[in-house]
Amino acid sequence: MTENHKPGILGQTPEELAELAGRLGGKPFHGRQIFRWVNQRGVFDFEQMTDLPQGLRKTLQEKAPINLPKVVKSTTAAADGATKLLLQYPDRQEAEAVIIRDRGKITLCLSTQIGCPLGCTFCMTGAMGFKRNLIAGEITSQFLFAKKCLKPGETVRNIVLMGMGEPLLNYDETLKAMRILTSEQGPGLAARRITLSTAGVVPKIHQLADENIKLKLAISLHAATNEKRNLLVPLNKKYPLEELLPAAEAFARKRKRRITFEYILIEGINDTPEDAMLLAKKVAPIPCKINLIPYNPTPFAPYKRPSLARINRFREILFPRTPAVTVRFSKGGEVEAACGQLAANYPLNHLPKKFLAPALTP
Ligand code: SF4
Repeated sequence: MTENHKPGILGQTPEELAELAGRLGGKPFHGRQIFRWVNQRGVFDFEQMTDLPQGLRKTLQEKAPINLPKVVKSTTAAADGATKLLLQYPDRQEAEAVIIRDRGKITLCLSTQIGCPLGCTFCMTGAMGFKRNLIAGEITSQFLFAKKCLKPGETVRNIVLMGMGEPLLNYDETLKAMRILTSEQGPGLAARRITLSTAGVVPKIHQLADENIKLKLAISLHAATNEKRNLLVPLNKKYPLEELLPAAEAFARKRKRRITFEYILIEGINDTPEDAMLLAKKVAPIPCKINLIPYNPTPFAPYKRPSLARINRFREILFPRTPAVTVRFSKGGEVEAACGQLAANYPLNHLPKKFLAPALTP
């Protein structure tokens, strides 16, 4: 952790803030009040925290940095109203959050790292390389700032940890952030409305299954053989399918809830009928649904998006062998990928539109 992204008030639990308030001459309950001001009401100025004693407000002003990020860019797509926020943290590193709109229901896509060390070969974030982990307050601040950008009547329905980074490689800070977002003294989001997307960090999937916070799990699968998955998701060389799929099954069974497999369809790489048959067979024992995501070409990767006919053929082989299959199309040719495709230069005017199988139209 560098000097510039030490935890400030953001990202602290009520207990940590109670302890801080005590150290600064206040009472423990003042810490819980600060937590509510920041995380429930989105107030970042101690002077406006009117139920705190004047003296404590002044001391906090002097001694307790809030470490707010700056929104350096906010762009809203004309096509579907999605808003991309580019946040800059005090050390000048930047991460993105995206507000995805669907008939008044809001899904927020949050980042957990700046860049990503996993280098999936189809992913823009992977192409950036890894800069650093985000700390809890830097993750929750994406939520708090995004909330301030909502239109009247809009409410956050879902959170997806599918922005920049691999959340399970930043396990403690990501979970701390999710505990804050689900706290009743904070935003009070339901854990079942938060989906953590991973490329398959197997030991951490097992660990997550035992946590008392019941997040939903999505796994970026993208191939049904190790040979192909090694090419697309190099992490597979460390945690191959023989380890990943049992971990996925154990998670789903322990939680008594389906997990989601994300599968980017890339022409000639993983979109053949044999791929579909093998995928259906491999996931058959696992309570799951599959999201198919037609790939969109980017300048840095040699991959192509399959034709609609190939996409339909793949889906028809999968469904109903796998009972729940969704195809997620982008309207303008760019796609919301499984995790981490919201890199800093993500072309916002091509954000995704979702279509449910079997009514598949481009
Ligand atoms: S797809 Fe996810 S895990 Fe893979 S490089 Fe991109 S951000 Fe990292």
